[in-house]
Amino acid sequence: QKAEWEKLKHAETVTTDGKHIELAANIGTPKDLDGVRNNGAEAIGLYRTEFLYMDSPDFPTEEDQYKAYKAVLEGMDGKPVVVRTMDIGGDKELPYLTLPHEMNPFLGYRAIRICLAEDEMFRTQLRALLRASVHGPLRIMFPMIATLQEFREAKALLEDEKAKLTAEGIAVSDEIQVGIMIEIPAAAVIADKFAKEVDFFSVGTNDLIQYTMAADRMNERVSYLYQPYNPAILRLLKNVIDAAHAEGKWAGMCGEMAGDQTAVPLLVGLGLDEFSMSATSILKTRSLMKRLDTTKMAELAEKAINDCDTADEVVALVEQYTK
Ligand code: PEP
Ligand code: MG
Repeated sequence: QKAEWEKLKHAETVTTDGKHIELAANIGTPKDLDGVRNNGAEAIGLYRTEFLYMDSPDFPTEEDQYKAYKAVLEGMDGKPVVVRTMDIGGDKELPYLTLPHEMNPFLGYRAIRICLAEDEMFRTQLRALLRASVHGPLRIMFPMIATLQEFREAKALLEDEKAKLTAEGIAVSDEIQVGIMIEIPAAAVIADKFAKEVDFFSVGTNDLIQYTMAADRMNERVSYLYQPYNPAILRLLKNVIDAAHAEGKWAGMCGEMAGDQTAVPLLVGLGLDEFSMSATSILKTRSLMKRLDTTKMAELAEKAINDCDTADEVVALVEQYTK
């Protein structure tokens, strides 16, 4: 099996009926690039920039950030890179940023909510990203977006910094895609409205599942409710993917579900365009995708959504279709 995967390193990810799917990697630092290249990733689908903040004794400077983003873009040699703006809060803390003690940190002051309130810190990151954009195809992604207002506000700050840099004579790419993570059910439900304004979606299933099922992703007592294959989750995903496609936008996924071998046939059937996962899952997923037919998987996904009542029934159906 390992030998077969090895051969797939430089292969394209195409289904039996010829549909190309983008297989991307999740990274936390530029040091992860070796693993990304060794596993044949076609892109970076999630660069979690909060590690840049967590590994630093104080807020990373614009220059520190610029260097890291440039290293990743150059390291990918022309392949697309999705950089997610800082997602601190929830379970991730910064020693130099005192956050209020909260009853429910996952429902509290986190990610884009902090960035829009601490806008100097956010502008520093946006400037570093804009400057790095000349080094490769950059896609900027905002995490934890719940409302269109939040997206518009974040995008306006980005545009504002871009205008300032341009006025200073600093080059910025005109081809940056700007998208959002879909990880809050409210955004998934009105994905059609978001799709008119964003360039892409990437579904963060780790959070989307916890918020949809009201089951803390870290709490083992309720882990039985953490159900990626629950028809409720599948319906949300279908809504998001269809909404993106209706506006000619692409939809990806960067939560754990994207690399889950039982979920992959369903996600291919739902028409997901990009799958981003830990680099070590890429080759086995490419091997699986090359054995799938999109028409048959679309039929599977439709049955899972319409005919199955429970996650267990969905799993049984997937097994039947991929035997
Ligand atoms: C997610 O929520 O699925 C995600 C990819 O983001 P994180 O795991 O960093 O919250
Ligand atoms: Mg998340």
